[in-house]
Amino acid sequence: MFPHRVATPAPPTRPNHAAGRSNRWLQGFAESHYYLLVPLASIVIFLVVMSLILWSLNRRETEQQQDTLYRNVAWAQQQIRLNMLSIQDQISSLARDTAAAPQGLGHFASAADEMMQNHPDIVFMNWLNAEQRPQWAVPSDSPFAARLQASKDSPMEDALLVAFRAARDSRRPAYSTLLYDASGMSYIALEVPVLRGREFLGTIGVVYSVEGMLIHELPQELGNKFKVSFVDTHNKELATTSTRPPSPRDVSSELLLDPPGHSLLVRVYSYPSVGNFVNNTLVWLIVGLSCFVLWSLWSLWRHTRQRFEAQQALFNETSFRRAMENSIVIGMRVLDLQGHITYVNPAFCRMTGWDEADLLGHAPPYPYWPDDDIYEMQRRIDMTLRGKAPSHGFEIRVRRKNGSVFYARMFVSPLVDAHGRQTGWMSSLTDISEPKRAREELAAAHERFTTVLESLDASVSVLAVDKAELLFANRYYRQLFGTRPEGHLELSDGALESAQASSDSIDMVDAYAGLPAVALTDTASETQEIYLPSRQKWFEVRRQYIQWVDGHLAQLQVATDITARRQAEELARQEEERLQFTGRLMTMGEMASSLAHELNQPLAAINNYCMGTAALVRAGRTSPETLLPALEKTSQQAVRAGMIIKRIRSFVKRSEPKRQPTSIYEIVADAVGLAEIEARKRRIRIVTELPAGLPQIYVDPVLIEQVLVNLLKNAAEAMQNHTPPPGLRRDLSIRLHVRRQERAIEFTVVDHGPGVDETAIERLFEPFFSTKSDGMGMGLNICRSIIESHHGRLWVENNYAGDVRSGCTFFILLPFDADTSSVGEA
Ligand code: ADP
Repeated sequence: MFPHRVATPAPPTRPNHAAGRSNRWLQGFAESHYYLLVPLASIVIFLVVMSLILWSLNRRETEQQQDTLYRNVAWAQQQIRLNMLSIQDQISSLARDTAAAPQGLGHFASAADEMMQNHPDIVFMNWLNAEQRPQWAVPSDSPFAARLQASKDSPMEDALLVAFRAARDSRRPAYSTLLYDASGMSYIALEVPVLRGREFLGTIGVVYSVEGMLIHELPQELGNKFKVSFVDTHNKELATTSTRPPSPRDVSSELLLDPPGHSLLVRVYSYPSVGNFVNNTLVWLIVGLSCFVLWSLWSLWRHTRQRFEAQQALFNETSFRRAMENSIVIGMRVLDLQGHITYVNPAFCRMTGWDEADLLGHAPPYPYWPDDDIYEMQRRIDMTLRGKAPSHGFEIRVRRKNGSVFYARMFVSPLVDAHGRQTGWMSSLTDISEPKRAREELAAAHERFTTVLESLDASVSVLAVDKAELLFANRYYRQLFGTRPEGHLELSDGALESAQASSDSIDMVDAYAGLPAVALTDTASETQEIYLPSRQKWFEVRRQYIQWVDGHLAQLQVATDITARRQAEELARQEEERLQFTGRLMTMGEMASSLAHELNQPLAAINNYCMGTAALVRAGRTSPETLLPALEKTSQQAVRAGMIIKRIRSFVKRSEPKRQPTSIYEIVADAVGLAEIEARKRRIRIVTELPAGLPQIYVDPVLIEQVLVNLLKNAAEAMQNHTPPPGLRRDLSIRLHVRRQERAIEFTVVDHGPGVDETAIERLFEPFFSTKSDGMGMGLNICRSIIESHHGRLWVENNYAGDVRSGCTFFILLPFDADTSSVGEA
């Protein structure tokens, strides 16, 4: 159907190659995904920049963390050192007290206990004299007691000895390197010299538990915030504030805890900080966001692709529709609900000659309405807008821009948009001028044809062969027979009977129906003259088999009333017959004296014979021998007279013309017999030449005889007083020749008379043409009509001897084949 969404169609003139180019470009672009590169690149750049920012933030944070750690480790170191120094000071004070007044073990022990209580990291204290002899030790049962006293049995450990000697030699407190107990715990020893003046009295040794140092000497808040460990120079962790296993990603800072020990390092680890969490979250957020953007991009690409495909489909659809719209020959017009033209297709513009610009937006009356039809067109558009347009459409007249008007058929249907709402009316316009003209011409032709057929003075009827049903009958037929097929059947003279009439006719119909239509319709029309007794009329019937409009075999019959003609013909025939008869009478009349003379001869002879016989009887000389010859001669003469009378009778006998197979010899004998009487009177001989074996001819013998007699008589008359031109011998013979030709018999009557005037040669056969004073001039005319009624020819030619006319020859040509229709009637 037609597109029902025609809001703002693209201009139809848009070149298609441009559309094709943009289409290819779109395709190429979609295939290459170029349009994704920019967002992809921006995402990559964004990621790189974000990574750089994060990296630098991280770096800064790490630096800050490192910084903080460093400050904290320094602070821890400071605090531990300060605490240790304060302990060192207290021990130095104890050493001075010990040097000044060695109160003994009691004072020292209480001071040591007090100190050990204040500093739980101190696990052992003792006093070694200058000879490394232990003076006292707190607690005395400590395993360190033995290790911190040099005796013969148990020499002082090297680390302690080094510290002891350092304290002794430098007169300053000295720390030992790391000591370990059996369980692997680490310790550090401090040897504070006891001096009295310059005199070295020994050392007060203090053993710190490294772990204790960490617990007690480290400020509490530092231990809460960080993991703080002591490690030795071999990176072995000696003590730690947290048991959390170290991870390679831990950030730490360390400082040498010197002077308390040469080999002790304070290391501070940062716990995973809030900052790190934020950072990580940020990273993940960015990664997540990037993934989201990538996903968005992908879905955008997919969406674009789908859109592109949809667009492509739409484009193809549009191109298809536009091509269809351009190629369509039906004009399309769209009206909105108020009747404004919102769209016309190119065919509409072509058809009407109005441009799109002339029509779009136009309200009724539209420019293509003919002025005369405005009222009617307005009525129709009102109907259309009310939705009352007839489904079979309107036939309207449309005015072209050039003023000419054509007929069109318009169909209207509602225009419905994608939501099922009616937005206007779609109309299609078809130019029907040509079909209308053809229809009108056809109707006129049909009318002419019907008029001719109806006013014909002949009956025209068409009968279906298989059903004996009348398919067509003109007025004349209807007047004669009504609308029944019987008339047709009657006229067909039994060629086609009504199927209902008899079973024979059913067979006949079947026989016709079984014939191939072409074989019958190809046969030429036949003509027949039929007499209808019911109407007392003669008809000349022509019939032919035709193929009827529905393809069936039908018989067309045209019957012309020829009653009048037949009557006229009959009259003429009778007239002619009378004329021929009169002609014969006239001939006989003309020959009357000759005939009388001819008859007179036998009669006179009979009389003579009878007189002679009577004389013999009277003389009594009657004997059979004398009487018999006379009687026989008398009889012969009577026969001769009878013969003449018979000939004359048969010649002038008035009878219906009747053709019959006739012997040529008989005709010639009779004709010559009669003609000779006249000729003899004129001393003219008739010489006949008749070949043997001539066929019988199918003629009326009296009429042919009449012709021959006439010709022979004319010849004799012409010759009677004729003096031949000089140089020519007088010949008083008439020659009658009969010759057989291929399909005809030729009779020639040759005379030696004056011949005929060449200029009047044809006029001889006209009625009343005569050169004789007593002539009627009908003889030759009757002869020709007789010969022609036998389908033959009669003509005359002059004979010449050199340049001299020596008479004339009358020719008769009669077809002899009795079996052929050209010879006779059935
Ligand atoms: P009619 O004998 O009464 O004159 P026809 O019709 O028989 O009428 O002949 C017409 C004319 O044709 C004759 O008057 C004569 O002039 C001419 N005609 C007929 N036969 C001959 C003939 N054999 N030779 C010369 N003229 C002839």
